[in-house]
Amino acid sequence: MKIIVFISGSASDIQSQWITLINKQLVNETILLPQQINASQAENVDIAIVANPDPKELTRFPNLIWIQSLWVGVENLVDEMIGETVGKSVKLVKLVDPQLAKTMAESVLAWTLYLQRNMPEYAQQQAISQWKQLPSIMSEDLRVSVLGAGSLGMAVLDTLKKLDYNVSCWSRTPKQLNGIKNYTGFDGLQEMLSKTDILINLLPLTQYTYHLLNKELLSQLPTGAKLINFSRGAIINTPELLKLLESKHISHAVLDVFEHEPLATNDPIWGNPNITVLPHISAPTNMLSAAKIAAKNISTYRENNVIPNTIDVKQGY
Ligand code: NDP
Repeated sequence: MKIIVFISGSASDIQSQWITLINKQLVNETILLPQQINASQAENVDIAIVANPDPKELTRFPNLIWIQSLWVGVENLVDEMIGETVGKSVKLVKLVDPQLAKTMAESVLAWTLYLQRNMPEYAQQQAISQWKQLPSIMSEDLRVSVLGAGSLGMAVLDTLKKLDYNVSCWSRTPKQLNGIKNYTGFDGLQEMLSKTDILINLLPLTQYTYHLLNKELLSQLPTGAKLINFSRGAIINTPELLKLLESKHISHAVLDVFEHEPLATNDPIWGNPNITVLPHISAPTNMLSAAKIAAKNISTYRENNVIPNTIDVKQGY
């Protein structure tokens, strides 16, 4: 009998909630925690469901075929696969959840409006009882560029496009998108940045995107541009961003993700008036919909041996 192992770094009550939700969808499957599986049973484990796992735990299962992540970001697992802690032949499937993409699109819209409607400046004016009307810009005239046009980037682009923002995106491979300008390559990225009022980062963290947004690239943005980072902190070279904020080249940054989380209580970023700090909340995993998606992927695999789209370990996403 095949066994599914559930591996997570979450608290034990959260682990139980996950297993209950997934078991409801997969009544004929045996889903166990690693500590419930002995050495001979470990040979029967062909699928792992993971949520922020300790990758070393995966090495106990010699016949593992694929891993279903309940998270969208899988950079830690990809690192282990490159380092071969996890066998090369094991396939990795990230969460692709339209519900989460919708939540991300709503978040991006909310914080785009926050920047478009000068809310950081009005909060600062209120603090000093200053009555001053700032210029407003119409959506059609606001150039919003999205880094990444994957499951989250596309949901964001569609939402912004419907509201008439002037949208562009940058991806690794070229795309034909109705009413959305697509750029690729380093030259394409520089060109897009030079025509951007609000830059939204939704790239995955990979060896190619680590500290991609450095002084050189961010300086391509027009003076006064704004930045929203909702994917991973390490894609930005933060000390260089801080300098660009100080010089007012970038006027405001909304940061939901940081290279080290949680952000240390004594980190000066907290008190920076040109930064809005969010505690990694732009698109939390919805446990119910994620459990359903994982279960459906597993049922499909059991029925016809097809594993959903897997991560390209070389590309890192
Ligand atoms: P996808 O894998 O679906 O899409 C990634 C996009 O980035 C694709 O368009 C891809 O290009 C592009 N891309 C990747 N590498 C490069 C590169 N080197 N150069 C140019 N473009 C590149 O990812 P998702 O949209 O599902 O998720 C994005 C990230 O969002 C996750 O990795 C995760 O880190 C983060 N996230 C953050 C959350 C939060 O709450 N803050 C919640 C969930 C996710 P192409 O289309 O050509 O392949």
